[in-house]
Amino acid sequence: MQEIDIASLTIEEVKNLIVEIGEKEFRGEQIFHWIHGKRIESFDEMTNLSKRLREKLKNNYELNLLSIEEKYVSKIDNTTKYLFSLKDNNIIESVLMRYNYGNTACISSQVGCRMGCAFCASTLGGLIRNLTAGEMAGQIYKIEKDSNIKISNIVIMGSGEPLDNLESILSFIKIINHPKAANIGQRHITLSTCGLVDKIYTLANKNLQITLAISLHGPNDKVRQEIMPIAKKYSIDELLKACSYYIMKTHRRITFEYALINQLNDQEEYAFELADKLKGLLCHVNLIPMNPVKETNFKESNKDTIKKFKEILESKGIQTTVRRRLGSDIDAACGQLRRRYLEMK
Ligand code: SAH
Repeated sequence: MQEIDIASLTIEEVKNLIVEIGEKEFRGEQIFHWIHGKRIESFDEMTNLSKRLREKLKNNYELNLLSIEEKYVSKIDNTTKYLFSLKDNNIIESVLMRYNYGNTACISSQVGCRMGCAFCASTLGGLIRNLTAGEMAGQIYKIEKDSNIKISNIVIMGSGEPLDNLESILSFIKIINHPKAANIGQRHITLSTCGLVDKIYTLANKNLQITLAISLHGPNDKVRQEIMPIAKKYSIDELLKACSYYIMKTHRRITFEYALINQLNDQEEYAFELADKLKGLLCHVNLIPMNPVKETNFKESNKDTIKKFKEILESKGIQTTVRRRLGSDIDAACGQLRRRYLEMK
C-alpha cells in the first residue's frame, strides 16, 4: 500500500495534495471526479490532465484497489455476494440486496474483526487490518459496475467494527456523499456498531445525518456479556446513555439490532425487559433471525418465538420489524463466505 492512498482522500484533501505538488487546485477536483465520479481504473484515462501530471500520479499512487475474486447470486432472491481481493491479497466480502425501495450494498469496514462476538463468523480469525476509505468506496463502485445498477443505500454491516476504524469511515462518508462522487445521501447510510461507547459520542459530535444501528442482542449486561465481549467494557446503561446523546444531537431514530438465539436471549421475559429499557427512546427494534455459523453452537429461535417476541415489544409501544433473510442459499451472512473461501485455499 502506498503511503498516501489517493482514492481515500476527500475532495479538499485531493486539492491540497495537488497544490502541494505544484499543480493548480482545480486539477484536484478533476482528479477526484475521475476517481469517484467516472470510476476510472488507471491514471491514463484522466484525459483532461497533461501527460506529465498523469505520469506523476502514476508513479506515486494506486487506483483499482479491489478486484472481484468470486461472486454468487442467490437463486431465491437475486441477492449477490461478492468476494473481493485487495492489493495485499486480503479477501473481503460485500453483499448487494435488491429491495423494492432500492438497491442496498452491505460493505465491510475491516479485514476480519477483533470484537469477538460469540455468534459471528467475521471475528473468528481476529482482525487483520482496517480498510481504507478508498477500499470501502471501491466495494460500492465494483458492485455498481458489475451488476450494472445504482446503489441507493449503504449499510456498514459487513465484516468489521466500523467504530474501530472511525477515521476512515468518516472519510468514506464524506467521499461517497459528495455530488462529484456517488452522491449518496447521509440518510441513506447506516452504520452498525456492537457498542463502542466512546466512539458513539465522537460520532454524535460530527453532526452527521447517518442512521446509527446498535447491535444490542440482549436486554441486560448478563445476557450481553455472555455473547459480546464489548459488554464487559461498557454497561448497557452507558451504551443507552450514549444513544440518547446521539439522538439529542442528530434527531435521528436509532435502530437496535437483536439477533434472536434459541434459549439464550429469546425468552419472553427478555422482551419485556427490553421494552422497559428502550421506553421513551426514539428508536425501533430490528429482530434478526440468528444465522447459524458452523463453528458455534448457537441455534436460531423458532418462528413462533420470534413472532411472540415481536408482539410483546409492540404491545409495549416499541416499533419492531423482523429482518427478512436474503440470500440464505449463498452464505450471505456475517463473514461466512470469506471464511469458507479461506478454508478452501
Ligand atoms: N461490528 C458491527 C457491524 C458488523 S456485524 C456490529 O457489531 O454491529 C452486523 C450485524 O450482524 C450485527 O448486528 C451483528 O451482531 C450481526 N450478526 C453477526 N453474526 C450474526 C449471525 N450469525 N446471525 C445473525 N446476526 C449476526
